[in-house]
Amino acid sequence: MGILTYINGDHRNRLLMLGAAVIAALALAAFGLRAWGSDTTLLDEIRASGKLRVYTREGATTYSVGPHGPEGLEYELLERFARHLGVELEIETHASLQDILDGVAEGRAHLAAAGLTVTEARQHRVRFAPPYQYITEQLVYRRGPNRRPADLLSATRDGDLEVVAHSSHAELLAQLKAEHPELNWDEVEEIDTLELLNLVAEGIIDYTIVDSNELTLHRRFYPHLGVAFDVSKPKPLAWAFARGKDDSLYQEATRFFNELEKTGQLALIVKGFYSHVRAYDYAGTHTFIGHVKRRLPRYRVLLERAALKYDLDWRLLAAVAYQESHWNPHAVSPTGVRGFMMLTQATASQLGVTRRTDPEQSIEGGARYLRSLIDKIPGHIDEADRIWLALAAYNVGYGHLQDARVITRWRNGDPDSWQSIKENLPLLRKRKWYKKTRHGYARGNEPVRYVENIRSYYDILSWYLANDPAEHRNRPVFAIASPVL
Ligand code: GLU
Repeated sequence: MGILTYINGDHRNRLLMLGAAVIAALALAAFGLRAWGSDTTLLDEIRASGKLRVYTREGATTYSVGPHGPEGLEYELLERFARHLGVELEIETHASLQDILDGVAEGRAHLAAAGLTVTEARQHRVRFAPPYQYITEQLVYRRGPNRRPADLLSATRDGDLEVVAHSSHAELLAQLKAEHPELNWDEVEEIDTLELLNLVAEGIIDYTIVDSNELTLHRRFYPHLGVAFDVSKPKPLAWAFARGKDDSLYQEATRFFNELEKTGQLALIVKGFYSHVRAYDYAGTHTFIGHVKRRLPRYRVLLERAALKYDLDWRLLAAVAYQESHWNPHAVSPTGVRGFMMLTQATASQLGVTRRTDPEQSIEGGARYLRSLIDKIPGHIDEADRIWLALAAYNVGYGHLQDARVITRWRNGDPDSWQSIKENLPLLRKRKWYKKTRHGYARGNEPVRYVENIRSYYDILSWYLANDPAEHRNRPVFAIASPVL
């Protein structure tokens, strides 16, 4: 526009204007070149480098490195997204939510996937992809007579409320304070949600606010915790991206989430992630932890030995045994199944177990049997899934499990994924489905319960051992868990 005005202007200034026009043309050319150069979008850059850099925080709902490698809902989603882009993930964990958001806003990370709540304040700094889950924020207290607070104001008047600094909870409290100046709380920089829950459970602080999904996972470990009430309406969780001009990666993530949502896969992934927890009976945790302390030590060495011999994780073997007999070597079922690992007479004979009530023989036999079932599950299946499938087979029989995988395929599910198969196993009770299968009717709901219970026992046991100081002193060498699970 400026150039046109000049050319139409004063005749005497033509030369000058010509000069200006040349400079402008050069500038335009240079700009054009730059523009051409910047045709390479962030998305192109990521694809070319083959790496997607992500910031997250460690946690059961987000990302953690478990016995069979990285896990967590954010991780599952990230892995799919990286596969979709054809690149590798480079995950960096940060304890502080502030560092995570700064990292994205300032371009050190391509995105943040950290169980982040979409909040008003954050939207000024970053751009959020479509939500993958909705949660509420809940006030948590330690259960006991007259301990449940009536509302937030009375809670903070009578006790200490601590929340994670820079969290959505801190932002919510600041908003509420505008209307209720008497509201009081502390924001802690050094510790995370899990630690705050721990402090409430131990009675060191009175209250904290956490996301409902985090509480769902952690309450199993702290049966004393109670939810007083929701302090917010459902809020979305989503991935965060920089707000710059180049929104290529953000757009791709938006397409990715929209597609996952449309095909119903997103709901399945989220539900799958939390379902074994939902099925779990909270009151059972108490009894379980009691048995971990009192009964397990007697059998631990036997479990460790058998696990080492058959390349299993001893905690998995312990979880199976707990599901079977509650670690009672004399357990008997009405159908004649017997012993620590509850072997049938037929299986025991096949395994060379002569005395089923001898815990050593029972554990050795059970471990060998479990290993043979895992080996029978096709090798292309993901390692964790193979274990869950093997356990389902242990419970319902290999033939029925195969039938459930076939039904899963018929119904367009993934016959290699436990998440998908467990939706279909219960159909083995429906004539419409079982009449078409090779092995016919089976109580397909039972293996689902069986496997989900074992997963919960396994999680709680692993958590308990990881937090037990005695674990970190002089464990014999064979206590090191194998990398199988
Ligand atoms: N969703 C919460 C947030 O984004 C998580 C806070 C936390 O547990 O650290 O602030």
